[in-house]
Amino acid sequence: MTTVRTRIAPSPTGDPHVGTAYIALFNLCFARQHGGQFILRIEDTDQLRSTRESEQQIYDALRWLGIEWDEGPDVGGPHGPYRQSERGDIYKKYSAELVDKGHAFPCFCSAERLDAVRAQQMANKETPRYDGHCMQLDPAQAQQRVAAGESHVVRMKVPDTGICTVPDMLRGNVEIPWDRMDMQVLMKADGLPTYFLANVVDDHLMGITHVLRGEEWLPSAPKLIKLYEYFGWEQPALCYMPLLRNPDKSKLSKRKNPTSVTFYERMGYLPEAMLNYLGRMGWSMPDEREKFSLAEMIEHFDLSRVSLGGPIFDLEKLSWLNGQWLRELPVERFAAEVQKWAFNPQYLMQIAPHVQGRVETFSQIAPLAGMFFMGGVSPDASLFAHKKLSAEQVRQVMQLILWKLEALRQWDKERITGCIQAVVEHLELKLRDAMPLMFAAITGHANSVSVLDAMEILGPDLTRFRLRQAIELLGGVSKKETKEWEKLLAAIA
Ligand code: GLU
Repeated sequence: MTTVRTRIAPSPTGDPHVGTAYIALFNLCFARQHGGQFILRIEDTDQLRSTRESEQQIYDALRWLGIEWDEGPDVGGPHGPYRQSERGDIYKKYSAELVDKGHAFPCFCSAERLDAVRAQQMANKETPRYDGHCMQLDPAQAQQRVAAGESHVVRMKVPDTGICTVPDMLRGNVEIPWDRMDMQVLMKADGLPTYFLANVVDDHLMGITHVLRGEEWLPSAPKLIKLYEYFGWEQPALCYMPLLRNPDKSKLSKRKNPTSVTFYERMGYLPEAMLNYLGRMGWSMPDEREKFSLAEMIEHFDLSRVSLGGPIFDLEKLSWLNGQWLRELPVERFAAEVQKWAFNPQYLMQIAPHVQGRVETFSQIAPLAGMFFMGGVSPDASLFAHKKLSAEQVRQVMQLILWKLEALRQWDKERITGCIQAVVEHLELKLRDAMPLMFAAITGHANSVSVLDAMEILGPDLTRFRLRQAIELLGGVSKKETKEWEKLLAAIA
């Protein structure tokens, strides 16, 4: 019998998402329950958006939760490299194989031509898709153009009629008509693969037997299935996990809920409780108990107990469960966890230089620096009254700074200042117009340590959370304002 091998294949393009942890957990449980292996692969073919910082955060977040992998970029293994950016030659070889076999073809169409085709199809009320123009080229001539260095992509051929049956471990056979599928680009003009090619090649070469991924990938499953068929490879078993949702049932998004695992760490959730909660998303223990450990989940894991209704990621429910965990800890362990959370030497050493010169006794530290040990702070709305800016401008400055900070990957004082500076300059304001607002939002008070230091120490998650809360306190941002201000944002360097 072949060994069960599952994987998680995150793209390192932002904060470590709770959805990644959720999918990782289910893949881990499935593998462990079958005595198999769980692999971590980094899908970083999007060179513009992928960063090493984000990759490291994914490792840290998963490890904090207690999720360990048997093979991966940082731990090695027999099927490496486990980072797609280091596997370029492998994809070139397989792309060439598909072209040779006539399953894929080079496409030289310009962006203008593709736009025109698209516009015409939209006008005819057809589904926009590639019209097959370059598929008609004589293969020998096409190869000559490629050899001469002409810019091109490689596209896969797809049937234009009939139905593809996707065997989903949760839903049974799902039927998707072929005419909905585009002639997917497999290799981009820069010579890098797209998700589709890289994912299929890697899952095959890495011996993945079961793929548990988010349900947002179900509509594109036929393309993957076709690629397995073209290569003559056995397709792994497929399982499309229900998506996590906001309480209003929309797809979990950071606009409505913090989605970064590190946020929950900084807020003082226990990793075991967080993992327990993710396990409760769409799955239940045979005896329906709410509180269980990873070991218990692995022991009782059974895909047939996954329910397809979109699981709701609800902060109140998570907090309730966390409370259960905290209360049941032996008190020594509770104290040790508190210490580990924020009363550890490393964190205190970051704070000490900023309070030492400001206090006469230790007992003055808590009133001055208590906000380093808090999640949200509750500033008084009066702290945001501004001599120069209107209430709308106040929200605008804060929202633009928040957006800039959300995109910031390296978190240090200089770069944080750079974000604020860029926004105030664009709005023709001064730093001193924005800083008191930041101060109130982040520290919750009129006096404390320097706000830039505070932001650096608090880290991105708590900083953004407090800014978001302050904006909410001041009435939030309407849909119309969001649209207008996003245009402003795009113009800020
Ligand atoms: N890189 C994809 C992602 O970030 C992987 C999806 C898959 O599991 O195939 O979600």
